[in-house]
Amino acid sequence: MADRAMEEEEWEQILDKYRAAGKILIEVRDEALKLVKEGESLLKVAEFVEEGIRAKGGEPAFPCNISRNEEAAHATPSVNDTAVFSADEIVKLDFGVHIDGYIADSAVTVDLSGEHEELVRASEIALNEAIKIIHDGVTTSEIGEVIGNTIKECGYKPVVNLSGHGLLRYNSHAPPTIPNVGHKQGIRLKANDVIAIEPFATDGGGKVVESGNVEIYSLLKEKPVRMREARKLLGAIRKYRGLPFARRWLPQERLNLALRSLNSMGLLRDYPVLKEEDKGLVSQAEHTVIIKEDGCEIITAMKDSG
Ligand code: MN
Ligand code: MN
Repeated sequence: MADRAMEEEEWEQILDKYRAAGKILIEVRDEALKLVKEGESLLKVAEFVEEGIRAKGGEPAFPCNISRNEEAAHATPSVNDTAVFSADEIVKLDFGVHIDGYIADSAVTVDLSGEHEELVRASEIALNEAIKIIHDGVTTSEIGEVIGNTIKECGYKPVVNLSGHGLLRYNSHAPPTIPNVGHKQGIRLKANDVIAIEPFATDGGGKVVESGNVEIYSLLKEKPVRMREARKLLGAIRKYRGLPFARRWLPQERLNLALRSLNSMGLLRDYPVLKEEDKGLVSQAEHTVIIKEDGCEIITAMKDSG
């Protein structure tokens, strides 16, 4: 019994770090959303988010993703990016905060056009419906089925090759996969698991493909590196402990050469921008939750919905 009590106390300490990360995320998100408007710089918003996280005592768990229109994920501004939001765009703001490696991950969609409210709502409703059925023992396929069916009932398609995921220390995409459609081999979730649920809805075919543009990488493993530039880069990215980082976070001198070198040695994973295959518009909604006996605790909850 003593062991069990100690274990539970340790769990609570870990969960409190997830909760603290979630609290920072909520505060930064509220401020950042005010900046997502026509004419505003994407780079300014991304930096506002990342600096805001650090100012509150957290660290970005990955670069602030700002994906627009048919872009579904992995878009982040480049170092001197001059892009600004335009009035006809649908914008996904997706970012994560970690405290000591424990990550909160959340995304919201902003419809600057005012014409795609239903598409935005489809992801939000699917997320809410999924959260309603979560409890100790629920399976990933039950969650996927609710998400997929809800999006279809709203008149859109779920993006089938994007999914939610588990969260572990310094691992922003841990098992299990939480699909956005029903599937055969579901995995049973248990109390104290921390997972991110992230439905994507689209008016396109429902699949994303990789585009050529890469701004985000992560370090997969280490090996002795001979080239001076590559060694220097390895020294700069080690501190992310395997979490994704942005090109614009790095010293820019001879960066392409160094990235190519580490990439050719198999040390990096790159994250190409993912776009809807039919150039369909994509909406996303995401929360991080802690599974409980009879429900779940949303650690990135919107302030107005509790
Ligand atoms: Mn996310
Ligand atoms: Mn996620």
